[in-house]
Amino acid sequence: MIYADNAATTMMSSVALDAMINCIKNTWGNPSSLYEFGQKAAEVLAESRQIIAKCINATADEIYFTSGGSESDNQAIISAAKIGARKGKKHIISTAFEHHAVLYTLKKLEHEGFEIELLDVHENGIILPEQIKNAIRDETCLVTIMFANNEIGTIQPIEEIGKICRERKIIFHTDAVQAAGHLPIDVDAQNIDMLSMSAHKFHGAKGVGALYVRKGIKLESLIEGGAQEKGKRAGTENVPAICAMATALNDSCKNLETNSRKLLNLRGKLIEGLKKIPRSILNGDENRRLPNNVNFCFEGIEGESLLLLLDDKGICASSGSACTSGSLDPSHVLLAIGRPHEIAHGSLRLSLDENISESDVDYIIKSVAEVVEYLRGMSPLWKDKISGKKEFVLK
Ligand SMILES: *Cc1c(COP(=O)(O)O)cnc(C)c1O
Repeated sequence: MIYADNAATTMMSSVALDAMINCIKNTWGNPSSLYEFGQKAAEVLAESRQIIAKCINATADEIYFTSGGSESDNQAIISAAKIGARKGKKHIISTAFEHHAVLYTLKKLEHEGFEIELLDVHENGIILPEQIKNAIRDETCLVTIMFANNEIGTIQPIEEIGKICRERKIIFHTDAVQAAGHLPIDVDAQNIDMLSMSAHKFHGAKGVGALYVRKGIKLESLIEGGAQEKGKRAGTENVPAICAMATALNDSCKNLETNSRKLLNLRGKLIEGLKKIPRSILNGDENRRLPNNVNFCFEGIEGESLLLLLDDKGICASSGSACTSGSLDPSHVLLAIGRPHEIAHGSLRLSLDENISESDVDYIIKSVAEVVEYLRGMSPLWKDKISGKKEFVLK
């Protein structure tokens, strides 16, 4: 099997798995208990917080543990909205191609009287700092822009956007779930006030994540109960998963350059290979994208059929995001960058990791080309296009 769906989830790294099992076996006490066995778990928690903070140039007291990216996004956005509302500021800026954890939280806030402004995204999948500058008003309380897009991998000008927000004293949150462990992050240099991450996107376990909150910003709790996480997130901490998350992030950051170099090479090869398929188009800027992300549309193809046939060939890939598979709507991200419905339906996302080899990439290219040709051969619509009865959309 070739696993090329690392944007959906990743395999746990052996160091993270070892850390998790070790903790489950040996440090399973409750970190809130006063006896030494409990305090051992509290130490693991404190160390993990320290490690994660260091990876993004934050301090340990700015890191809150959550159940993952979705919870971190919800908590960050709701907290910033509450802070704004207390000052009578209820305007929030975001983009049309955010993850649903962000978009649906914003939708909820809209029903509560907030004004949500979703910026259009240019065809290359990158927001311009100018767009943020122009959208900011006196009532703006939050700008939330993802670090890197989960479908097309495009990297946003986070530092510049952060700078604009800083100058206007507006909270800047970034969903960095696809970036953490994959791109260098420095919350200070990049002017980030709040940042979401999720362990299972960087070879940690599922169901655990972190939220960075700059000192001085009041976090709102979504879950009431115990005093864990300074009273901002009740519930006994998942110490083994947190410990594995810290180990995984540290490992990813340590190997970031080596892995990126390898992935950039594979990504280039994959893009070149898939471009050769007639009437195909790469989604998102060719260079300003995650080193592991390739996303194409193929005219006349239905994404789901493509995935099923690739599965038969032992390739795990995705069409759009895991959240939209199972629904017939085309990806909101591809629509946001202006792909017509007909084209957006035929999308393929391949997200690699460092375990993939060059021969795997060759096999993927060959398989995709075969499957696309096969599906087009069966399509009445494609026959109409070939015969000139209908027009082609892509060159
Ligand atoms: C996966 C993902 C999320 C959700 O993270 P979970 O830990 O699965 O809740 C949020 N945002 C982005 C960009 C993602 O890729």
